[in-house]
Amino acid sequence: MPTTAPTDGGLGPQAPAGGPGGLSPPGLDIESGRLLFTQACTFFYAAQSIDQLPAPLGPEIAFAGRSNVGKSSLVNALTGQKALARASGQPGRTKQLNFFNLGDRLILVDMPGYGYAQAAKEVKRDWQGLMFDYLRGRPDLRRVILLLDSRIEVKASDHAVMDLLDRAAVTYQLVLTKIDKITPAALAAKLREAATLARAHAAAYPDVAATSSDSGAGLEDLRAQLAQLV
Ligand code: GDP
Repeated sequence: MPTTAPTDGGLGPQAPAGGPGGLSPPGLDIESGRLLFTQACTFFYAAQSIDQLPAPLGPEIAFAGRSNVGKSSLVNALTGQKALARASGQPGRTKQLNFFNLGDRLILVDMPGYGYAQAAKEVKRDWQGLMFDYLRGRPDLRRVILLLDSRIEVKASDHAVMDLLDRAAVTYQLVLTKIDKITPAALAAKLREAATLARAHAAAYPDVAATSSDSGAGLEDLRAQLAQLV
């Protein structure tokens, strides 16, 4: 694993707010997001227990979601790398946290996917140890990105993870995936539904993001939002 800690902790001069054509929410620094995610991103650590966590290197963002939600695809698309995060395979098979270093500026943490049909109490049991301890005790963890498939209703397992994140008092952001697969009207409805859900949870960030790893929709806005946390 790398031994150098980030030295600047900032992104340098800020570019003008808003994306090309003014389509992004005001205040988003699209260029900083783009620059951050052009940095090399490398896997450097896998932790299977809380005493194995790597020493903090700088700000961390963790990605969570049920298996098949599109987590690996999103991490790969954000970083522009084809096979950085591997598809999680069978639900719950890999109970480890995978750490990636993005240019010594930001650490991306891939959390294990939880089961599609898992009952809330099974998810809570699975997340009780390493996941919960990590979430609660990691001072550098800036935000959890909780992915929701835009085509599928929010499941009991998603609600269970949101409850755990509330309890761990970690800020988390709901991010819809696979929006290339739904109509604009369905997306608008899904965004309203997710925003209502976010408002009902103490630790949820109020803005919901919508993305497609296939079409690239929403990626530059999400990169910019993550860059703001560095
Ligand atoms: P993970 O288990 O959450 O890591 O999910 P994967 O990234 O492996 O994706 C699961 C499936 O969804 C794969 O067949 C992907 O090709 C597909 N997928 C992921 N993201 C998108 C997307 O943005 N659009 C579409 N249409 N399919 C996607």
